[in-house]
Amino acid sequence: MKDIIIIGGGPAGLSAAMYAGRAQLDTLVLERQFQGGQMMNTNEVENYPGILETTGPELSGVMYEHAVKFGTKMAFEEVIGLEVDYPIKKVITTTGVYETKTIILAMGAKPRQLGVEKEQELWGRGVSYCAICDGGFFRDKEVAVIGGGDTAVEDALYLSRLAKKVYLIHRRDQLRAAQILQQRVLASNVEVIWDSKVTKLYSEQTLTGVEITNINTNEATDIDIQGLFVAVGSIPATGLVKDLVELNEQGYIVAGESCETSINGVFAAGDIRQKELRQIITAAADGAISVYQAEKYILTRA
Ligand code: NAP
Repeated sequence: MKDIIIIGGGPAGLSAAMYAGRAQLDTLVLERQFQGGQMMNTNEVENYPGILETTGPELSGVMYEHAVKFGTKMAFEEVIGLEVDYPIKKVITTTGVYETKTIILAMGAKPRQLGVEKEQELWGRGVSYCAICDGGFFRDKEVAVIGGGDTAVEDALYLSRLAKKVYLIHRRDQLRAAQILQQRVLASNVEVIWDSKVTKLYSEQTLTGVEITNINTNEATDIDIQGLFVAVGSIPATGLVKDLVELNEQGYIVAGESCETSINGVFAAGDIRQKELRQIITAAADGAISVYQAEKYILTRA
């Protein structure tokens, strides 16, 4: 039986893996896709203390090395069920069943979709949720980024170095992104279109354009683009635990700074947890705290 099973290999899960390995706890990380989580979609990271500037994929690689350095194992398996009884919990994956004393939920969040017709069918054929992954396909093409947060602005700046033309389309007249990013994008060659929503997608085999509608005037305008990068936030990956642990109205796991969920021995770390600031650094901090709490739980209750 494991001491800790960590579900999710983003910054929260990898940080927890490193702390757990260093504490000599028998730990397994289960990740269904690739290590790094949403970091893999981030181009520039310049706000992680001690690292002046890096890319998301680079930081993911280093965090992974650090996570396994102290002996924690990582398996690329999808978790399909959980049994959270006392004292032995079960984690069911597509390939087997693991027993564990504690579980750390670090499944993060996934991109929110716009909900426009044909969005799903054009995913991968012009519509993308990851500028870093797909930006290279749009070299010298015309693209638009939707959203007004850090991700949208970073994506627009990143794409402006590759694409011929970049529009940033936002539903309000003010960006939500950090001031420093706002200043950069407003000083760049990205064309910001305010107060507008995407109301139609045009396509032949692939995306050929969008209709945008001004929310104040209701006026619709067509723009020819080959790439649409949707960066309108994320939704927590809580499908697996929605009937097990308490969630808040937005679907995030209710857990305070101690990362303790409504179930004893089950902890939540990173973007999946109810919190105010979702950043790599706050996810990594949760990873450390959740292992500290899990160890305390193992010593006193398990
Ligand atoms: P976010 O901050 O939640 O911003 C989402 C944006 O999308 C908002 O501007 C929102 O508009 C817009 N939006 C939401 N639903 C929409 C819809 N249906 N149609 C059109 N627009 C819609 O998400 P995020 O930018 O992905 O950032 C998530 C978290 O990660 C934040 O805490 C952010 O600071 C952090 N982050 C940090 C970095 C970094 O530090 N390097 C990089 C990326 C992300 P409104 O403004 O009108 O609500």
